[in-house]
Amino acid sequence: MLLALAGTSFAQELDHAAEYRQNAAVLARYPDVPVALEAPALKPGRTDFTSQAEMEAYLAALKARAPSLVLGSLGRSGQGRELPYLIFTKEGVADAAAIRALGRPILWFIGLQHGNEPAGGEAMLALAAKLADGALKAYLDRVTVVVVPRANPDGAAAFTRATGSGADLNRDHILLTLPESAALHAKLIELPPDVVIDAHEFSVANRWLEKFAVIEASDAMLLYATHPMVQPAITALAESVFRPALDAAWNAHGLTSFWYHTTSYRPDDKLVSMGGNAPGIARNAFGLMGAVSFLIETRGVGVGLQAFQRRVATHVLAAEAVIRTAAADPSRLRTAVAEARSAAAAARDDLIVAHKLAVTPVDLPMLDPETARNRPTTVPFQDSRAVTVTAKRARPAGYLLTGDAAAVAPRLALNTIAVCALAVPATIDAEAFILKGAVKRTNRESINPDQSVEVELGKKSLALPAGALFVPMNQPAAALAAAALEPDCPGSFIGTGIVAVPSGPNEAPIYRAGAAAARNLHLAPLAHASAGCETPP
Ligand SMILES: [Zn+2]
Repeated sequence: MLLALAGTSFAQELDHAAEYRQNAAVLARYPDVPVALEAPALKPGRTDFTSQAEMEAYLAALKARAPSLVLGSLGRSGQGRELPYLIFTKEGVADAAAIRALGRPILWFIGLQHGNEPAGGEAMLALAAKLADGALKAYLDRVTVVVVPRANPDGAAAFTRATGSGADLNRDHILLTLPESAALHAKLIELPPDVVIDAHEFSVANRWLEKFAVIEASDAMLLYATHPMVQPAITALAESVFRPALDAAWNAHGLTSFWYHTTSYRPDDKLVSMGGNAPGIARNAFGLMGAVSFLIETRGVGVGLQAFQRRVATHVLAAEAVIRTAAADPSRLRTAVAEARSAAAAARDDLIVAHKLAVTPVDLPMLDPETARNRPTTVPFQDSRAVTVTAKRARPAGYLLTGDAAAVAPRLALNTIAVCALAVPATIDAEAFILKGAVKRTNRESINPDQSVEVELGKKSLALPAGALFVPMNQPAAALAAAALEPDCPGSFIGTGIVAVPSGPNEAPIYRAGAAAARNLHLAPLAHASAGCETPP
């Protein structure tokens, strides 16, 4: 009774009039999937999605039913809502060190980074039930599972894509400017992921209807991390082990899939792009950490509750496939991830600071919105995997953070990036970034954020006090560190204005140190991790 009241009083105020209504012929192509799913919004007669209060009550009931699951809160959203997480181990372990000591792959599932994409969040609740006391519990002797059902509860409450502060949470995974992303990463660094699934939904009609007079056909879209500095072994695992398993699970239930794609809001712009390569997008940031990372989207933005069971089932089937695949050979997965992280720490090749993507004609699987017939639509398709490198730069031994830049050290640590401090003062020959233009603040809601600033390198004799910060590049998250600290990488701290550049010399307070200079630094660990701080790189 209390739960029902709470659910009613906190229910979302959905604007059903603003939804696109698919006709009966179209909907006939998207029937329920015959799989049992337990989740609040899948109860008969529902006209809205699961509220925050309902979700919290559901998770508490699950915990009461299955005491071995760990239920906690990552923290609170910008507007003060809880950010629940669940950890599933066979032993019911809560302590992070004890969970790591189990030695099993850690699989992360994240829902509702975008508040108006509800099937991903609902699927996390159904997945939790299956792990708590359902069919997936049997896999917990081989894998550990972390579920974050609602990463953006303020967006979910308002049924908007953005957070309460108006930012795109999914683009904040390097900068970590939002309480929601910082809270998520604080748990991620305790339980480093081997696999991350980021569950979203895509637009069925609006821009597709306006530009091409068709609607999307696929049940699912997917894409793994495509940033060009993701370790090839991680991409190979995603492409040749996990993607076939996902497609097989969907095909077995009559569900179709395609590469994730999107298009701009400009009506005259017919370009269709795969998800972008900006390193701060969750999918790419997790890949650059060395995890197998997938964006999975279902056919649900802008269509309210239409075909909702099928959308939730599509996500749950994907999650099950990921868990089964990881559990089939957990040591292979752990070894591959560990080797990829070692390879990233040992890499000495040039950094990729700019690249372009091939555009080729591709037939998108689309439907006629009236007849529901297939209407494959040929579009110019920008392929995020088809990278041509246009600018490289020698990889430094590490980066020195001076002045305002030192303030980003905690954010780097939240991204698994080890930060060291100078134990004694030093004067070294460093490379300075001289800005060639002003930092432009572009819209953080844009589809492919490209907030960077052109630089040239200059020589600099740098006198550093004890305590000055050094980010070594001989660590697993080196590519993520470079993406954050090279000003001309998209979404960098300098490029986005998070780290201010003093006026006058227009010189960034971040410097590059080569191997010879770095050998003169005596370092001590600063943050949670110590990799690279003991010995000069
Ligand atoms: Zn989304």
